Amino acid sequence: MILKENLDSIRKNLPPGVKLVAASKFKPIEDILEAYKLGIKDFGENRPQELSKKMIELPDDINWHFIGHLQTNKIKMIIDKVFLIHSVDSLKLLTEINKEANKRDITVNCLLQVYIASEETKQGLSEDELNEILNIKNSFTNINFKGLMGMASFTNNLNKVRDEFKYLKGVFNAAKKRHFADDSMFSEISIGMSGDYQVAAEEGSTIVRIGSLIFGER
Ligand SMILES: *Cc1c(COP(=O)(O)O)cnc(C)c1O
Repeated sequence: MILKENLDSIRKNLPPGVKLVAASKFKPIEDILEAYKLGIKDFGENRPQELSKKMIELPDDINWHFIGHLQTNKIKMIIDKVFLIHSVDSLKLLTEINKEANKRDITVNCLLQVYIASEETKQGLSEDELNEILNIKNSFTNINFKGLMGMASFTNNLNKVRDEFKYLKGVFNAAKKRHFADDSMFSEISIGMSGDYQVAAEEGSTIVRIGSLIFGER
């Protein structure tokens, strides 16, 4: 069940210019449709199969965001369907996305996921790996580099989370200056989830990805 009051309060709390992506993974079609009717047009999924299945049954004007770890052998399933891939976390994955996009003669919007947490389990590039990719960014002819994504540590300590968001903002600013000084396309920072989206908005988020606060616990 969609918590309309929650959705209203999220919208009220988000500064203008911060986009809301509803993380709808594991949630049924009916819930997504309900959110859609409340005006949400951007949904995030983390499994290629689930995304492909849902998009067939749901309205055409939904922007589908891919927010999970993407295996190279699943790229084909989503590459021509997604509005934005948030979670490009390796040079190998980026190279394969570019190759598939090139075959189809399309351009794919991507965020590079940077490792900002202090946990072994979180995916993402180090700042050095990010720079290695951006140093050769012109070789990725079929990628639009839209910005960066990060996932904070799984903790209730919002000061720690804030520090991790600040770190990402610093990485973003440095990358912008060094690699995209004359390119307004590189402009997005995807940070913030149910528990920390207000902190994220204060620390420069342009896209928040919120699941449980809209749809209830998974
Ligand atoms: C599930 C998910 C979210 C949303 O998490 P909630 O805590 O339910 O808001 C955000 N980002 C990613 C990458 C996710 O997988």
